[in-house]
Amino acid sequence: VFNFNAGPATLPLAVLEEAQRELLNYKGTGMSVMEISHRSKEYEAINNEAEANMKELLGLGSNYRVLFLQGGASTQFAMVPMNFLGAGQKADYILTGSWSEKALKEAQKIGQTHVAATTQEGNYVRIPKADEIQLSEAPAYIHLTSNNTIFGTQWQSFPDFGDIPLIADMSSDILCKPFDANKFALIYAGAQKNLGPSGVTVVIIRQDMIEKASTKLPSMLRYDIHAKNNSLYNTPPSFSVYMVNLVLCWLKAQGGLAAMEKHNLEKAALIYDVIDSSNGFYKGHADKDSRSIMNITFRLLNEDLEKAFASEATKAGLIGLKGHRSVGGMRASIYNAMSREGCQALADFMKEFMRKNG
Ligand code: PLP
Repeated sequence: VFNFNAGPATLPLAVLEEAQRELLNYKGTGMSVMEISHRSKEYEAINNEAEANMKELLGLGSNYRVLFLQGGASTQFAMVPMNFLGAGQKADYILTGSWSEKALKEAQKIGQTHVAATTQEGNYVRIPKADEIQLSEAPAYIHLTSNNTIFGTQWQSFPDFGDIPLIADMSSDILCKPFDANKFALIYAGAQKNLGPSGVTVVIIRQDMIEKASTKLPSMLRYDIHAKNNSLYNTPPSFSVYMVNLVLCWLKAQGGLAAMEKHNLEKAALIYDVIDSSNGFYKGHADKDSRSIMNITFRLLNEDLEKAFASEATKAGLIGLKGHRSVGGMRASIYNAMSREGCQALADFMKEFMRKNG
């Protein structure tokens, strides 16, 4: 089947096959990678390789660390303000969907916040333009969501905010295309869309932020403790980190981020072209200049047709297309690991469904 679920999502077949080959005997240890100690040299090598691969793919130098944590992106919603939003400070949030709203809500429990821009009006169909963003005076940081999984919008480029620390939730589009990661003070992402299985959250953090992070928090919530301990302060989600490293190796072998962008643009175009040439039978949720190449959201003429679409698609082996309730309609999540064949199959199905029902 082709799996269009928003996450956990499809993984590269080659990665699953490699994990299967190594499952019972990891590199001659006689044990599964799930069974080896996180203090062993074998696991340390996996952890270090995953960090090095992530930095290589993003073009980051020694002033960044990559941490492998638990608790999902949702825990980062809280950890970010707990670590960086001090008394008397304000943090700026740019709202582009439900996940940025959730991030803001957590920050509001910790300290003062300011909404620097929101595109809620019209149900988050777009990303704000640079001149719509009104920052507070000297914010502790600016937070944005690079790709809005539910609404199907994505930042096409990131504004320059000078020296203000820029923090991004990139859970649903990390590594889908080249971007200047050096612009960011901190990037976080739950792994279960573009990076691997659920269970691990990747945090890419600049050294000065590690030094700035609060030291008054419980240990598990302190970035400096995780960084100092090389993500091994407590037992890490070792199997998930191992899988993330296999995905990163696969990405490098595919040609890195530039190759991924080409692959993802071609895939997304197959589906957007059907929407745009359907004379209104399919209607995209996102404005064209804010469209995501990871999550494609669209509606049909009515809910009965949408139900029929989802159920016939499932029978045709195209699963997970039902949209999120706050948008309705359909959502095709086509992360890095989704093949061109999968997108072609969906485009063909959409054309045929329109021919029969249009
Ligand atoms: N942020 C974004 C953009 C997401 O798409 C999701 C999950 O879909 C989350 C955060 C929440 O992630 P988690 O379930 O890892 O907490």
